Amino acid sequence: MSYSSSARPVHIAGWPGLLLCLLALGACTPATLKERPGYWADQSVAAKAFNHRVRFLVLHYTGGDGPRALNVLTGPSVSSHYLVATAPPAHSGEPIVRQLVPEYERAWHAGTSSWGGRHHLNDSSIGIEIVNAGPIETANGNAWQGFRQDQIAAVSSLSKDIVTRYAIAPENVVGHADIAPGRKVDPGPAFPWEALYRQGIGAWPDATRVAAYRNQFAGAMPSLAAIQSALARYGYDVPVTGVLDQRTHAVVVSFQMHFRPARYDGVPDLDTVARLWALNDKYR
Ligand SMILES: [Zn+2]
Repeated sequence: MSYSSSARPVHIAGWPGLLLCLLALGACTPATLKERPGYWADQSVAAKAFNHRVRFLVLHYTGGDGPRALNVLTGPSVSSHYLVATAPPAHSGEPIVRQLVPEYERAWHAGTSSWGGRHHLNDSSIGIEIVNAGPIETANGNAWQGFRQDQIAAVSSLSKDIVTRYAIAPENVVGHADIAPGRKVDPGPAFPWEALYRQGIGAWPDATRVAAYRNQFAGAMPSLAAIQSALARYGYDVPVTGVLDQRTHAVVVSFQMHFRPARYDGVPDLDTVARLWALNDKYR
């Protein structure tokens, strides 16, 4: 049996409501009463104590060309919410990005992952895949494919919209390498994190604080245990062992690719440590 319009609940909220009802010739449903299959949801009173399910923005490179990425990301194993082409097409002067998964759904882009003590980041993040080959061989040896300016402009607009809508903290805009050190390196050291920071997306240490910590630690570096603690405080999943083990090395590589891409050898040197301390001052 289907509902006829005359069988719908009638709710008249005083004279203004009645007047609206009369004007609408019997469609007397308040805007806050939403029809659902077989019931109504009264949305007239809203709670205050809640937050967004989405807390992280994770950036990736595809590691292949656009057609291959689209094929993989629409296949049975992995996906991302968004895919940004190398040279995004435009409509009315603005770039088009592909949306492959609705934001309220859980895309499969992060895999085994951890950030800030949270695990399984597919549950709580939006994932953007950026078409980029990653490591490439050139006549001068191994290199990383650069990102085009128009591609980064599209990533910037998309990211800014997402971090604004979900109020994502700067330190929670991360690369796949940050949340899966040793397993992933994307979006790689060629990714322009600092440029995105200048556009209001993600974190970056203040140069004056970095310089101050370089001075402070020039005479005596913090212990490895202190460095591991600082990495963990910033968000990385690293145990405090006091030794430069394989996991710590991988985490330092990820940190350097993000915040000191000129050298990402996994050695926690003075400049690396100064940037880490400056980031914790600012964000943690
Ligand atoms: Zn990735």
